[in-house]
Amino acid sequence: MNSNTPEARVAIVTGGSRGIGRAIALALAQQGWNVCISYLSNAAAAEETAALVKQAGARALTVKADVASRADTRRLFAETQKSFGRLDALVNNAGIVGGQQSIFDVQEDHLHSVFDANVLGSFYCAAEAATAMSNQKGGQGGSIVNISSAASRTGGMPLEAHYAASKGAIDSLTLALAKELAPHGIRVNAVRPGLIDTEIHEAHGGQATLTKLAPTVPMGRVGRADEVAQVVAFLCGPLSSYMDGALVDVSGGR
Ligand code: NAP
Repeated sequence: MNSNTPEARVAIVTGGSRGIGRAIALALAQQGWNVCISYLSNAAAAEETAALVKQAGARALTVKADVASRADTRRLFAETQKSFGRLDALVNNAGIVGGQQSIFDVQEDHLHSVFDANVLGSFYCAAEAATAMSNQKGGQGGSIVNISSAASRTGGMPLEAHYAASKGAIDSLTLALAKELAPHGIRVNAVRPGLIDTEIHEAHGGQATLTKLAPTVPMGRVGRADEVAQVVAFLCGPLSSYMDGALVDVSGGR
């Protein structure tokens, strides 16, 4: 598909500046989607991703927007609408681990920071996307893909109950919205990555931890961001037209 026509599909990838989000933006661009890349603070990384999207022949927009802020998420969708005039998919990818924290030292601020970004952010963006894409409200239908984690079913790394629980919420949100939004022409699915080589693992030892854990993965290695991205792009597009409410594991058998 030519991404320079008004018919070209448009996706918002939250946290599209780095890691899995960058790979998703690129995979979508390679399939002819125009992409809005949102980020929290790393403008340089977001611009690098935008350059890669443009190299792939698609249009790119970067927007600095904290998903934990209702006002920022409203602005993110308004700016996308202003630039592209349509929306066909949302990838709720932005997320944080929030470091390691024992339940014996649980702290209100810490829990709020993780749940605000991982869970409330996904609610806010889903609400904006539903309004923009609902075929009962003038939209053309579309797709929402929530990035959960294998941690939602394994409990995750030691001392990261906050993260695992936030991703459990994403699984439930996916199942609930799949039902609520199907009559609006919007499919909602989730991808649950396993151990993927990105900077998020700096929260618990970085590359050393990945190297140590790789042999525990049935496939014997950690995954690459592009291996997650291909599945997300499939769920965004028409080839997955009868998938709704699926929780898809991309975890090397873990
Ligand atoms: P990453 O490399 O640390 O990238 C995180 C991205 O999210 C960055 O673009 C960052 O923006 C953005 N971000 C963080 N907080 C945000 C906020 N409040 N508002 C807006 N953007 C925010 O992480 P990743 O490994 O690619 O993870 C992406 C998603 O996959 C997350 O939801 C994560 O939980 C999930 N996941 C990852 C793995 C894994 O092994 N890597 C496994 C399972 C699930 P800046 O660049 O501006 O900081």
